[in-house]
Amino acid sequence: MYDASDIIDDDPSTSSSTIEHPAIPAQALASTLGATLGPNGLDKMLIDRQGTVVITNTGATVLESLEVDDPIGRIVRDAVHAHAHRTGDGTTTTALLLGELLSEAETLVGGGLHPNTIVDGYGIALESAHNVLRELAVPVEASDHGTLQQIASTAITGKWDSAATARFATLTVDALCSVDFDVTRATLHAYPGATLADSEQVDGIFIDTETSSTAIDALETGRIRTDPTLAFVEAEIELPERDGSETVVVRDTEELQAVCEYEQERKDDVRDVVVDLDIDVLVCRQSIDDEIRTGLENAGVLAIERTRQDEFAAIARATDGESVASVRDLDRGDLGTAEAVRHRSIGGGDAVVFSGLPAEEHVSLVLRGGTQHVAEETRRIVEDCIAAVQHAADDGGVVPGGGAGMTAVAREVAARATQEGRRTALAVDAFADATTVIPRALARNAGLDPIDAMAALRVRHNEGNSAVGIDRSGELRNMCEVGVVEPATVPIRCLETAFETASLLLRVDERLAATPDPDSDATGHGGHEHAGHEHERDSGHPGGYPWALSH
Ligand code: ADP
Ligand code: MG
Repeated sequence: MYDASDIIDDDPSTSSSTIEHPAIPAQALASTLGATLGPNGLDKMLIDRQGTVVITNTGATVLESLEVDDPIGRIVRDAVHAHAHRTGDGTTTTALLLGELLSEAETLVGGGLHPNTIVDGYGIALESAHNVLRELAVPVEASDHGTLQQIASTAITGKWDSAATARFATLTVDALCSVDFDVTRATLHAYPGATLADSEQVDGIFIDTETSSTAIDALETGRIRTDPTLAFVEAEIELPERDGSETVVVRDTEELQAVCEYEQERKDDVRDVVVDLDIDVLVCRQSIDDEIRTGLENAGVLAIERTRQDEFAAIARATDGESVASVRDLDRGDLGTAEAVRHRSIGGGDAVVFSGLPAEEHVSLVLRGGTQHVAEETRRIVEDCIAAVQHAADDGGVVPGGGAGMTAVAREVAARATQEGRRTALAVDAFADATTVIPRALARNAGLDPIDAMAALRVRHNEGNSAVGIDRSGELRNMCEVGVVEPATVPIRCLETAFETASLLLRVDERLAATPDPDSDATGHGGHEHAGHEHERDSGHPGGYPWALSH
C-alpha cells in the first residue's frame, strides 16, 4: 500500500528519525500494568478528558483507555487489544511478557546481537515453550465441573472476595454447561442498582429493550404470557400500498368515509390473519403501524417490533419458528412456541425474556452491581471467566497457574538454550529470563522479594515439582492441589502475541513520516498498524511514559 514515494520529505530534519528502542514505551506500559496482575493485583482508576471514571483490573481495559501518543505504545496497545479479542483472558500477562522480551532484546542489541538473530532465537524459544506447556497440560472433560470451576475461579481471583469469586465461578460454569459451551447462545447484561449477590442466571433469550432497538408496549412489568405461539415477520407491518398513485383525491365526505373504511378493513385483515392463526406474540423485525398494533393489542396479541436482526433470528430459531416476509405469508407451520414470554423491569430499564425454548437452549447472565462502575467491571471480569472456561472445555488442557507454568517454561527454555551452538542461544536464554516476569510480578504483588521467590521456585522446579507456584498468600504450593489452574491455551497465546509483536518491533530501525492514506480519516490514523508508517510524533518522553492520563 505504501512505497518510498509515499514518504513526505518536506523537512529533512524531522521527516525520519532513528527509532528509540521499543523497550522504553513497552516497559513503561508493562510497569503500569504489573501491579494489577494476579490475586493480589490492585485496580487502576482511569479518568478521561470528559471526566468519566473507569475502575478496572483488566489489562486490556487499562490499555484501551490510555491516551497513547507514542507509535510503539500504540502498537503494543493494539496487540493486547487483539489478544483480548481472540483469547479473552491473559491481557496483563501478554503486556508484561512483551515489555520483558523487548527489554531483554535491548540488552542483547546493546551487546552487538543483530535483531534478526534475536527474533530467530525467540522463535526457537517459543516453540520450546509451546512444547513445555502442552506436556504440562492435563486434559479436562466438559463434564468435569469441579475443574471447570477451578479454572473459572483462577480467572477471576483477586477481583472480589472469595465468596463472590466462588459464586461467579459457579454462575459462569453452570451457564456455559447449559448451552454446551456454545458462547453464541449466552449473553451478558450488567445493571446497577442491586448487589453483586443479586446477579443471576436467566434461562432463555433475554432482550434488553434499551441496547436492542426492540420496542414493546403492551406487557406491564412482571406480566407473563404462558405457552405462547409466536410469529416472525421481517417486513414493516403497515397498510398495503394503494395501487396506482400515491395520492387519493377525496371530493366529498362519502368518499372520505369510503377511504377510512378501506383502511380500517386492511388493518382488520392483518389482525384477522394473526387472530385466526391463534398467534399470541407477533415479533416484527421492523416497525408496526400504530393503529395496527393497537388493534392487535386489543385482540390480545403481544406485538414486539424493531427487533435487532441477530436477536430476531435467535428467537425464531430457538422457538422453532420460521420468519416470513409479511403477515400475508404467515402459515401455521411457520409459528414457534415457548413456555413463556415475560416482561421484566430491571435496573431502571426494561427487558423481555423468552424462556422454555424448544429448539435451542439459551442463557443470560444478569450481572448486578451497586453502581454502573461495579456492574460494568463485573461484566468485564465475567467475560474473562467465560473465555477461560470455554478454552478449557474446547481443547481440554489445563496447566498450573500462579506462575508455575511460566517457571516451568523458563527452566526448559533455558535448557534448550544450552543446546544451541550459535549466537541465537543468547536470545533463547533471554526469552527464558523474560518469562519469569510473571512469577516475579505475582511474588511482588504478594509482598515477597521477587528475586528470593524466584530462587525458591527454581529449586522446587529443579526437584521435579513443575506444578509449584506462588499462591495468593505468597506461599509456594502445588497449584494443581490448591486448584489454581488455567487453560493451556491462555499462556500459549500470551507468549505467541508477545513474540509476534516483539518481532515486529525489533525489526524496525527507522521511523518515517508517511502521507496519510486518502481512504482513512482526516487525522490519517485510520486503520494502519504498520510500524514503519505511523506518523512521526516525537513524544519527548525518552525513558518516561509515552502516554498520559488526562483529567
Ligand atoms: P491477566 O490479565 O493476565 O489474566 P490477571 O490479573 O487475571 O491477569 O492474573 C492472572 C495471573 O494470576 C495468572 O498467572 C494466574 O495463574 C494467577 N492467579 C490467579 N489466581 C491465582 C491464585 N489464587 N493464586 C496464585 N496465582 C493466581
Ligand atoms: Mg485474568
